[in-house]
Amino acid sequence: MKQFAIAIHGGAGTILRSTMSPENEMNYKKGLEEAILAGDAILSSGGTALDAVEAAVKKLEDNPLFNAGRGAVFTNEGKNEMDSSIMNGQNLMAGAVTGINNIKNPISLARAVMEKSEHVFLSGSGAIEFAKKMKLEFAPDEYFFVQERYDQLLQAKESDHMVLDHSILRSTNTALGDAENKTPTSKKGTVGAVALDIHGNIAAATSTGGMTNKKFGRVGDSPVIGAGTYANNNTCAVSCTGHGEFFIRAVAAYDISCLMEYKGLSLNKACDEVVHQKLVKLGGEGGLIAIDAEGNIEMPFNSEGMYRASRKSGGEVYIGIYND
Ligand code: ASP
Repeated sequence: MKQFAIAIHGGAGTILRSTMSPENEMNYKKGLEEAILAGDAILSSGGTALDAVEAAVKKLEDNPLFNAGRGAVFTNEGKNEMDSSIMNGQNLMAGAVTGINNIKNPISLARAVMEKSEHVFLSGSGAIEFAKKMKLEFAPDEYFFVQERYDQLLQAKESDHMVLDHSILRSTNTALGDAENKTPTSKKGTVGAVALDIHGNIAAATSTGGMTNKKFGRVGDSPVIGAGTYANNNTCAVSCTGHGEFFIRAVAAYDISCLMEYKGLSLNKACDEVVHQKLVKLGGEGGLIAIDAEGNIEMPFNSEGMYRASRKSGGEVYIGIYND
């Protein structure tokens, strides 16, 4: 049987074993396992990588523990504005949405943009109008209200900073390792999936509520094709998580693909170059998951932790949280 594989993430940031309760740890692991199994079930029955990444991300969007869909963080105005994107490595088709609200599964809207519109990237009210036309499922504001998320906003407003889901935001000019600017209070994150199917195709998907206390219609890397998400059968499929401004400036996901395509680097070397060299030099905290058409999986991060899981061809499920 041809091989298949899938990897997912639930966000990167200041995730420390020392501040995690056993109960929380168990819940995160359960959420990750449910999502990876949802994607894996599709792949093992011969389904497509595209269906697998959408299914895995939908599970994570439905779980209030993660910063996407139901658990999306709050903007400065107390709203949930979500972003998502999806890309098919077989034909380089892509779809993305930004600044949307009340859509239960933003990743399905991104997919509809890719498959049922002549566009790639829709925003705000136009994207919502398109979602209505596509008869996607809507949910009321209450569905997206998670008390802990709201408390996070109140906390962030005190400092007047925009907060990465797991960490207090650093100034964009400070380097990594400035412990004073970090707090381990918040441990939820953007979600993503990458997969290889038995037909040899790869795909990537990312979904997020962005950063707590974001203002002025701020858009991060998650819905930006090439920054937060990218897929090309010839190289790799990538989904990023972290401080989006840096990932946009690094064109992180596409850069990994370019290092493979033009410089002949392996997936491992390309990921290392971007996550542990380029982003660190810029001061960009975060990580990513990546897969190539041979089923190699990389899940590097330069933050304290990253919720992540993987499974190859029905083998053991790997679940990781901390940096060990
Ligand atoms: N990358 C996301 C953003 O900047 C945040 C995250 O990954 O937690 O919007």
